[in-house]
Amino acid sequence: EAKNKGRDGIIIFNDELCKIIEKKLEIERYLHFAVDNSEVKLQYQPQVNAQGKVIGCEVLARWHNEHIGDVSPDVFIPIAENTGYIIELGEYILERALQALVKWDRSGIRLAQISVNISMRQFLDNSFIDMVEKLFDRYNIYSFKTQVIFEITETSTSDNLKKIVDVINKLKNFGIKFSMDDFGTGYSSLSYLREMPIDELKIDKSFVSKLDDEQQALLVKSIIEISRNMNLSIVAEGVEEKYQKDFLEELDCDLYQGYLFYKPLNQEDFEALF
Ligand code: C2E
Ligand code: MG
Ligand code: MG
Ligand code: MG
Repeated sequence: EAKNKGRDGIIIFNDELCKIIEKKLEIERYLHFAVDNSEVKLQYQPQVNAQGKVIGCEVLARWHNEHIGDVSPDVFIPIAENTGYIIELGEYILERALQALVKWDRSGIRLAQISVNISMRQFLDNSFIDMVEKLFDRYNIYSFKTQVIFEITETSTSDNLKKIVDVINKLKNFGIKFSMDDFGTGYSSLSYLREMPIDELKIDKSFVSKLDDEQQALLVKSIIEISRNMNLSIVAEGVEEKYQKDFLEELDCDLYQGYLFYKPLNQEDFEALF
């Protein structure tokens, strides 16, 4: 990156940078029609308890476009956030997830919980609460035993904290629970965690992958202990190896999600587990 910067920090547009920007614009252009063209699909990654039993799942968006192929959500979600398309995309994803929930309930697949990622831009949109209420009414989600969880991530500033807490509390009236996703990767602190009326904390996979490091292991241990004191349920993400699961189980982690157990599955494969 440094080599792209001139003496005064001015970015010099070289070919490489141009290509990156072009690529991004291209993605942006196609993304705009992704929902209408039925290019977005949902996958479901099982979450298991210490005994390996599937207790819940996380809904993960997948996008395939015929011109540009598969695009990772790590790429298209931030773009959708920047363009505002996340509002339409997020509603589509939530509706599809709720439809799956209805189908599962009818066919006897009773999950304890289903988690849906909600980006902050979508969460703070003025129409978000009404949209959620509309969908919950439409599918009568209140009648199901499955707990709907919204996964939100920490924000870089505490500017919006009051508004975030307010929206969480309003949505809790619909019976929705909240999970703090990717905790520890952003800028937030433990005091931020305390102020958020959340129910669950997800240990980010960047921590889980470094559990062989003594310092990191101690850090995860403290995060879990503090979360426990706050009565939060704890989900470890990115569990790939047996020693990681064993360590986390020792700390009484509630749920495990990762390739050691299951990769994200399409709906048919997910249903086949039951
Ligand atoms: P996330 O919410 O933290 O989701 C967990 C990510 O870790 C997923 O990546 C999942 O496939 C991956 N993962 C799970 N287990 C393992 C493992 O054992 N090893 C490794 N290496 N990875 C594992 P994915 O599906 O690529 O999603 C990336 C991110 O994109 C998500 O991170 C989330 O922030 C965002 N995202 C995905 N779907 C949605 C969505 O529907 N809405 C929003 N707003 N964001 C989404
Ligand atoms: Mg998540
Ligand atoms: Mg996560
Ligand atoms: Mg993550």
